[in-house]
Amino acid sequence: MSHNSFNALIIDKKDNGTRFSASITEFTSADSLPNQSDGLLIRVTHSSLNYKDGLAITGKGRILRKYPMVPGIDLAGIVEEADSIGTYHTGQPVLVTGFGLGEQVSGGYSGFARVKPDWVIPVPKGLSSQQCMSIGTAGLTSMLSLLALENHGVLPEQGPILVTGAAGGVGSIAILILSKRGYKVTGSSGRIEEHGKYLENIGASELINREELSKPSGKPLDSERWAGAIDSVGGETLASILRQTRYGGSVAACGLAGGVSLSTTVLPFILRGVNLLGIDSVMCPRVLREHAWNRLSEDLELEKLDSLTQVISLKEIPNAAEDILSGKVLGRIVVDLNL
Ligand code: NDP
Repeated sequence: MSHNSFNALIIDKKDNGTRFSASITEFTSADSLPNQSDGLLIRVTHSSLNYKDGLAITGKGRILRKYPMVPGIDLAGIVEEADSIGTYHTGQPVLVTGFGLGEQVSGGYSGFARVKPDWVIPVPKGLSSQQCMSIGTAGLTSMLSLLALENHGVLPEQGPILVTGAAGGVGSIAILILSKRGYKVTGSSGRIEEHGKYLENIGASELINREELSKPSGKPLDSERWAGAIDSVGGETLASILRQTRYGGSVAACGLAGGVSLSTTVLPFILRGVNLLGIDSVMCPRVLREHAWNRLSEDLELEKLDSLTQVISLKEIPNAAEDILSGKVLGRIVVDLNL
């Protein structure tokens, strides 16, 4: 690679769309990347791998809207060229998540990216670019979930909070921030035998096997257990959580790792006043987004965040994408563009 060139991961459709290819390609200008947005030029130092990136890279989900495309729904880096209105200055550390990055426009798996200035968030004080990407879309989603629970009056003294998909990205960061805020956290995981110690170290005080939640009980309501829940699994798991949520409790539904359908009755809502709260990180408004990032910079123990993070290079992404879809990834994966 010459001094001015950089690499990007390109996903393309082959054989009339029946096969997806991933290749690392060298570029000499950000403006020659496919489907490049206009806006602020960022020198990307780090990106991350989320479940959605796994779907995009493998072609197992309809995430990419155009081909060829650079995926990567998150990025952190340095402003290379200040914008004309002076909101951001050259050399400023910034981050972007969502808004169609790595779906509709060229994303974070590239040494450079152009992004709309409205999408950009200054890196919060106290966090490095790598730590911002350890958080990434997964961590932002965990914090949006916690904020939604707080807004619905779920406080630590009210009882245990259930976190599903506990060993994954959203789940691990949810456990970290909830436990730091003083909540008693129960983690639901399919990997307690291998990773029970990990889950306890990051703050879970109780663990349950995910199979406990994955089958219908045959009843519209079960015994009341949870004051609140952050659910990244969906499907039958979410239906079980609703049946088990305490009177007046709230459930933040943010994921679909276990399924997209939801089969429930209205009884949890009309007999127990349970709140089902939808969480979206992609189009989340800027005021809430900035608030969530500021809270993340306060509510995370950075040593623990670093301990749940694995750092990989651009060329390791395709294998890691397969792993995240098969539920093998522990915690979070950061992509270092300088490796
Ligand atoms: P990860 O793969 O890191 O974590 C998902 C976890 O879910 C796995 O580690 C596993 O946890 C559990 N899991 C996987 N498959 C199943 C299954 N079949 N049944 C039950 N549990 C399962 O992904 P992320 O944390 O990045 O994302 C989690 C979910 O949240 C995804 O569906 C993603 O699309 C969604 N999401 C939504 C966002 C939003 O804006 N609403 C933003 C970010 C993510 P364990 O091994 O502990 O059981």
